[in-house]
Amino acid sequence: MSVRPVPYPSLLGGVQKLRPDVFQVRLPIVSAYFLGTPGSDWVLVDAGTPLDAGMIKRAATQVHGSRSPAAIVLTHGHVDHVGSVPRLRGLWPVPVYARAEELPFLTGQAKYQIGRRTSSAPDLRPHIHALPTDGSVPFLTGWRWIPTPGHTPGHTSLWREADRTLIVGDAFSTANARNPVTLLTGEPAQVSHAFLYLSRSDGRESVRRLAELESQLAAVGHGKALGGAELPGAIREHVRRFDDPLPTQPPRLPLLALAAGMAALVWWWRRE
Ligand SMILES: [Zn+2]
Repeated sequence: MSVRPVPYPSLLGGVQKLRPDVFQVRLPIVSAYFLGTPGSDWVLVDAGTPLDAGMIKRAATQVHGSRSPAAIVLTHGHVDHVGSVPRLRGLWPVPVYARAEELPFLTGQAKYQIGRRTSSAPDLRPHIHALPTDGSVPFLTGWRWIPTPGHTPGHTSLWREADRTLIVGDAFSTANARNPVTLLTGEPAQVSHAFLYLSRSDGRESVRRLAELESQLAAVGHGKALGGAELPGAIREHVRRFDDPLPTQPPRLPLLALAAGMAALVWWWRRE
């Protein structure tokens, strides 16, 4: 089946050109994206963990020279996607956008409820704004934002119909949600569940909506980007099997410890 994973530039990080104006910034456990042609306006999509600002800045210099992004767009407010926003905004004082439904979490008014635990996002007032209600993405032509709640209430994906490019965020992943080590390796590079759904039924409906888009390239928060003619079929198949029991769960604690250790090693290796 020709679903084609795009290899990571390296295990330790780096930039991968997915389209002439779409760049995947590989960070230790997550990816951020640069949208926009080098030499003109560009937008940073997501901003890694609090430890990733240096890597994002280096990647931006590599791709866009001294040109700052025109804006930062967030797929959602989890700490591995917004962690470096405060530091990057110190460098690039640009507006930050997220879907209106995600703003309570990014303005200190609500916390994500995960089982009995809560987690909060940085308070980004007064720099955070709602994405335009007409579906456009500020500073980018040809892109639309698509509501994909489930992973979080205000999660959003980005879509460009012209070349059928989808920035998925965490609506689904291509790593293995049962095995945190795959946050680092990006395997198995297949359409898979997100690592978490705050609402599983919304999550299923969102992936179904993405399946209808017939995308030719799907770039995700966690895992390798996928392309190829069979990609729409693979997303539809994932929707069809959404509620199937997942394969046996490997022991989590040792894997989490290993993933944390490897992430710390990568961070140490790539520090400023
Ligand atoms: Zn997330």
